[in-house]
Amino acid sequence: MLKEHAATAAHAERVKKISHAVKSFSEQGIAFRIYHGSSNSTRAASRQEVVDISKLKNVISIDTTNKTAVVEPGIAMDDLMRYLRPYNLIPAVVPDFPGITAGGAFAGTAAESSSFRYGYFDRTVVSVEIVLGNGEIVQASPAHNADLFFGSVGALGTLGITTQLEVQLIDCGRYVEVNYIPVHSHSQALQMFEQAEDNVDFIDAIMFSNRHGVVVEGRLVEKLGAQPVTRFTRAKDPWFFTHVHKKIRCGPATDTFHCLTCHWTQHSRTYRQDSTIMSELVPVEDFVIRYDRGVFWMAAYGWAPNLWNRFTRFFLNFMFHTRFQYRVVHLVGGMPHIVQDFAIPEHKADVFLHYLHNDFNIYSLWLCPIKHDARAPMHTAQTCTEHTRYLVNIGVWGSPNYGSDYLHGDNYDQFVENNRKLEDKVANVRGLKWLYACNYYQETEFWRNYDKERYDELRTQWKADRLPNIWQKIRRSQQDLRLVAFGQWLMALLILPD
Ligand SMILES: Cc1cc2nc3c(=O)[nH]c(=O)nc-3n(C[C@H](O)[C@H](O)[C@H](O)COP(=O)(O)OP(=O)(O)OC[C@H]3O[C@@H](n4cnc5c(N)ncnc54)[C@H](O)[C@@H]3O)c2cc1C
Repeated sequence: MLKEHAATAAHAERVKKISHAVKSFSEQGIAFRIYHGSSNSTRAASRQEVVDISKLKNVISIDTTNKTAVVEPGIAMDDLMRYLRPYNLIPAVVPDFPGITAGGAFAGTAAESSSFRYGYFDRTVVSVEIVLGNGEIVQASPAHNADLFFGSVGALGTLGITTQLEVQLIDCGRYVEVNYIPVHSHSQALQMFEQAEDNVDFIDAIMFSNRHGVVVEGRLVEKLGAQPVTRFTRAKDPWFFTHVHKKIRCGPATDTFHCLTCHWTQHSRTYRQDSTIMSELVPVEDFVIRYDRGVFWMAAYGWAPNLWNRFTRFFLNFMFHTRFQYRVVHLVGGMPHIVQDFAIPEHKADVFLHYLHNDFNIYSLWLCPIKHDARAPMHTAQTCTEHTRYLVNIGVWGSPNYGSDYLHGDNYDQFVENNRKLEDKVANVRGLKWLYACNYYQETEFWRNYDKERYDELRTQWKADRLPNIWQKIRRSQQDLRLVAFGQWLMALLILPD
């Protein structure tokens, strides 16, 4: 108890300093941004006056009865999980990358394969403490200052600085029992999301082509059964996506079919020939960040298959974690292929996937169902009708037609054009983009997707005028990487792991 009091008092002291800094900027009429020490957004950061909140990365208290944790916003998911381990608890939604912070996940958009049950990470936040644009410290929750609470979700900090969050936790055993279910079309994967049984705790899918994919179902379990245990976090472990790929049967490439993962792994001949469900146990900590090594599959891009093998993966392991990869992206200012996440209403997901296949042919694709809740005006869920039960998060990270990135293939104009086509199509199916990525909208196009009037009202009401608005934060498209100076590339390649 004493420890908790001390943590609360130390937190109050840190927040007081932040509040003073904000108040001082506000009184001098200086616009400012927030610095929290890391970012999983891929947009380049802009230079402006900053309020440094990087010291806010502590756990303040754990309530094991109500299963909640009071945390500061800068706590990263892996640190929070480590802290919770002795209590056999985990956050109800653990966004996939270990470096994602509680504050970034609330102010940005974050989800994972437990989101079919709990919704986005923000829906597992019970209450928040926010420093407003004038330095005032307020509390908000779905029951108290609800407009500020929901308004802040997905608003990228443009209504104020989140300085504390109470996060919902769930019980967990030591393992996740994972079932790998082969599917033969996008529709089949979508159907399986709809039919997920009540005892399923996690569900998502990887589509390796329009004909081959795997739905991954997980159940939290207490005891070690007879199944084998597989891990994904150590240098000697497999990357999750190649491990999943071995669960399906891929035929040889033809004019109309090609599996990029077969090409990389050079393993297609040895794949299993049947379509039965395979099961194994994965330690909880390995399961929830299973996509970290390899950044799903993006860290394999650019490697010649014969150089990307178990030895290079082992010895260069430090380079393949998301934290390292993000540092490179931030140093060079972008990525040479399309990197976008879309939230598409369930009844339009098939249409959108067909469009993606016909017009882009980008694989692999990540599919993840997310429970629908439209209470946050700046959120990816707000364009859906009330009948939408869930959204499908579609992760589109690659180059069209199995092509190489635009540094070697299509030109940069084509790359921009492709991103704009996707933005158009998403609006067409009443879905929304996740705003961590680069954006190519014109301002009027962007605001067509959101309720600007309501958002501006909220900003006035909650004194956010000194903070940039969401359009000002997201409007950057990425630079043409061919113009990046050689020294910048070199520095990016030479940076050492944390
Ligand atoms: C290839 C790829 C795959 C991805 N896959 C997933 C995925 O599977 N699941 C998932 O959840 N996400 C995924 N993301 C997106 C990413 O997780 C989100 O963008 C997330 O919001 C980033 O969290 P962060 O802590 O790094 O926040 P940041 O990027 O640092 O912050 C996000 C925004 O919130 C603001 N902010 C941060 N902290 C605060 C605060 N305390 N108060 C006010 N505002 C604040 C920042 O200014 C910024 O505008 C993916 C991204 C990429 C590139």
